[in-house]
Amino acid sequence: MRTVHTIKELRAFVRSQRSRGKRIALVPTMGNLHEGHIALVHEASNLADVVITSIFVNPMQFGAHEDLDAYPRTLAEDQDKLQAAGNALLFAPTANEVYPHGLGDQTRVAVPNVSEGQCGASRPGHFEGVATVVTMLFNMVQPDVAVFGEKDFQQLAVIRKLTTDLCFPIDVIGVPTVREDSGLAKSSRNGYLSNDQRQQASALYRELKVAGESLAAGSDDFAHISERATAALAAAGFRPDYFNIVNSLTLKPASPGESELTILAAAFLGTTRLIDNLSVTR
Ligand code: AMP
Repeated sequence: MRTVHTIKELRAFVRSQRSRGKRIALVPTMGNLHEGHIALVHEASNLADVVITSIFVNPMQFGAHEDLDAYPRTLAEDQDKLQAAGNALLFAPTANEVYPHGLGDQTRVAVPNVSEGQCGASRPGHFEGVATVVTMLFNMVQPDVAVFGEKDFQQLAVIRKLTTDLCFPIDVIGVPTVREDSGLAKSSRNGYLSNDQRQQASALYRELKVAGESLAAGSDDFAHISERATAALAAAGFRPDYFNIVNSLTLKPASPGESELTILAAAFLGTTRLIDNLSVTR
């Protein structure tokens, strides 16, 4: 597996693969790879001849008081994992390579509506940062297919919408969330948790499942389900951010009788913010 750090080298690799008629998949990540990321690489391998993974801790998607500096950077270990997973090229640019004129001078991509609630409300500018860097990666690589995790459900909705709205000829594929045995969704941010917090953390998925069962049983009392779950999370040691039941496609608050529902949740354990979600068809 090759690692390149510049857009020029990335493009040369893409050109050589294209000239051989290869189908290309892109897996964008921020690194510190775990089994969730590797599941995306495996899915990408099933869908294309050549997999390109990017590792870029994108400063544009972090708020001023978020964990940009603390975010784990483990390039050597990530390279080993990608090599073992059959990834062909790792693109690991610097911030200067991606934003040579700085963030203040960068053209941005704003995706209305789906970006606005949930994490969009709690993390202003976050999805604009995600949409901008994903658009840039789509233009740099011009992949046939791009693979993302359902773990970041709202992010996936934002990317699906920008792909449609900006007419990218790219298939966007979602991969189900890979979890620990406890149910905790694998996440680079789990590394911030103490042993005790890791035990507590499984309450997030547990409460999603409890809420999902109520929805599946036909309850439309969304406010009650959310309040109960929020109280249970607080009792388990979390500081809940949101626990919202939305329409799976629009991400607007669910209406009674709707059949495709997703519960989106975010909560802090100490200073670590965890997100998770559960979809219900009824
Ligand atoms: P990140 O490095 O956190 O930006 O994530 C890169 C990609 O991996 C995104 O598409 C995430 O949704 C996906 N991802 C992260 N965690 C998981 C997981 N536990 N299961 C499946 N996909 C994941």
